[in-house]
Amino acid sequence: MRKDLMDILACPMCKGELELTIDEEEADEVIQGSLVCGKCNERYPIDDGIPNLLPPDLRKQAEAQAG
Ligand SMILES: [Zn+2]
Repeated sequence: MRKDLMDILACPMCKGELELTIDEEEADEVIQGSLVCGKCNERYPIDDGIPNLLPPDLRKQAEAQAG
């Protein structure tokens, strides 16, 4: 995801501000990392450049369905 997406992203649970942690980046793109909400402390992974901003409950469901 592009770093400037941080300007518009917010926590889906509480609409709090997200803090970006970068594990791997390429130019303006974050490839691997995580977004952590400073308000409710929820953590959202960034995998292959795609931020996964599903609420934790839905994310577990999606992962379960993926096998
Ligand atoms: Zn939050």
